[in-house]
Amino acid sequence: MDIQGFQGRLIIADQSEYDTARAVWNGAVDRRPQLIARCDGTADVVAAVRFARDHDLEIAVRGGGHNVAGTAVCDDGIVIDLSAMRTVSVDPAGRTVRVQGGALWSDVDHATQAHGLASTGGIVSHTGVAGLTLGGGLGWLMRKYGLAVDNLLAAEVVTADGSVVQASADEHPDLFWALRGGGGNFGIVTSFRFALHRLGPEILAGAVFWAAEDTGEVMRFYRDFIAEAPDELGSVIRLGTIPPWPVVPEHLHWRPAIAVACSYAGAVNDGERVVRSLRRFGTPLVDLVGPTPYVAHQATIDDTVPHGWHYHWKSTNLTGLSDDTISVVADHAYLAGSPRSCVVMFHLGGAVARVPADATAYPGRTVAHNIVIEAVWRPHEAGEHAVTETAWADRFLHALEAHRSTGVYVNFLDADDTTRIQEAYGAPTYRRLTEVKTKYDPDNTFHHNRNIRPA
Ligand SMILES: Cc1cc2nc3c(=O)[nH]c(=O)nc-3n(C[C@H](O)[C@H](O)[C@H](O)COP(=O)(O)OP(=O)(O)OC[C@H]3O[C@@H](n4cnc5c(N)ncnc54)[C@H](O)[C@@H]3O)c2cc1C
Repeated sequence: MDIQGFQGRLIIADQSEYDTARAVWNGAVDRRPQLIARCDGTADVVAAVRFARDHDLEIAVRGGGHNVAGTAVCDDGIVIDLSAMRTVSVDPAGRTVRVQGGALWSDVDHATQAHGLASTGGIVSHTGVAGLTLGGGLGWLMRKYGLAVDNLLAAEVVTADGSVVQASADEHPDLFWALRGGGGNFGIVTSFRFALHRLGPEILAGAVFWAAEDTGEVMRFYRDFIAEAPDELGSVIRLGTIPPWPVVPEHLHWRPAIAVACSYAGAVNDGERVVRSLRRFGTPLVDLVGPTPYVAHQATIDDTVPHGWHYHWKSTNLTGLSDDTISVVADHAYLAGSPRSCVVMFHLGGAVARVPADATAYPGRTVAHNIVIEAVWRPHEAGEHAVTETAWADRFLHALEAHRSTGVYVNFLDADDTTRIQEAYGAPTYRRLTEVKTKYDPDNTFHHNRNIRPA
């Protein structure tokens, strides 16, 4: 098979690298594309899009391959794979960075921290920049510097007809609006340009763990603690077991526990003052907060969510952390069968909430918390574990029904959540996204995603 004008690598089923090339982060996803077109640059992406359209092939687009629903790979069609396009170029004087469409956040952090600069990325460094940004982009720095989309200055996009366009506040502003939250519906982004901020290289960061039995008290304390917290404080609650990290005493490995993980986007001394009361609350099992390189912090939990394990996620926005909500969370969080399953809750607000609702397509500006229930099992545990862990996550979400606000972060939707896409955006944003989709991709060429249908 040949694609005219394509200079990257074409991978088909009888090649030894085919199985590695079709694998995505979620090992439960097992799809067999006809062809994987691993692009070397924008020209290859253009050639692959034109080829796919000429041959009426289903298209999946791969950035970091992290989406839990496995939308980066399709059956039968073509995967337009940007995983070899990971160049990151920093302009330290202008405080901007240009990032190719297949880069991971670890690539960005590595390059930008060499200049003492950073931009909001996800909390796991092997996540792709493209998918995360196009859905919104939550991370440790968001309360201070906004979401990934709030730092996006421009994007180069290959549209459904194979044209290359620039999207920014000045060029194709409608497309630029839609790219900032609307996902991969409008074209293939070959490069992003982000604003950077002074940070690190050392920051105050880490997690404090308490016994699972203390969950209710810890969460009620946390609710009051974050109400007073400055924007510099990014925090995430994690309920599950304590990872078997070398820095944790061995007798605590895999013990059910609640963790509050935090990072401070400012001077280490100031951060120490801000988190003092948190670290002193109750009787922590282990306290891992301390000065740490920002790059290391970004990768702290990477090994708790490795590639190849099987994952099933359920997520929702929450109305707040009422006593009742906390009770439901505490009652369900530790009922998973696997010590690898866990629950993650992001705290938003700050700079995220100060951006007007209609400025970008990211819809959750007023959401203070969301929750991701992560059912996890290893490949050899598929079968019984798949059933019990999946049922736990589904039951947990159901129990939260009375406590959830409408809405869910689109990047946390799993494969069986296709009916929740309109819920993710809400009617006005979804309508506007439909208009932009109709203009830039009227035939719905890019539909192997969290799809917004053209009118
Ligand atoms: C362990 C883990 C941690 C996470 N943590 C966070 C977090 O902290 N914050 C957060 O906001 N999200 C987080 N997420 C969710 C994450 O944002 C999504 O999974 C996102 O889709 C990952 O992007 P990717 O490029 O790796 O995905 P992929 O699976 O490669 O792509 C997903 C979809 O994005 C689109 N896409 C990918 N690349 C391009 C491109 N270049 N141009 C156009 N469309 C493209 C396609 O539609 C594709 O189907 C996390 C996910 C995981 C698995």
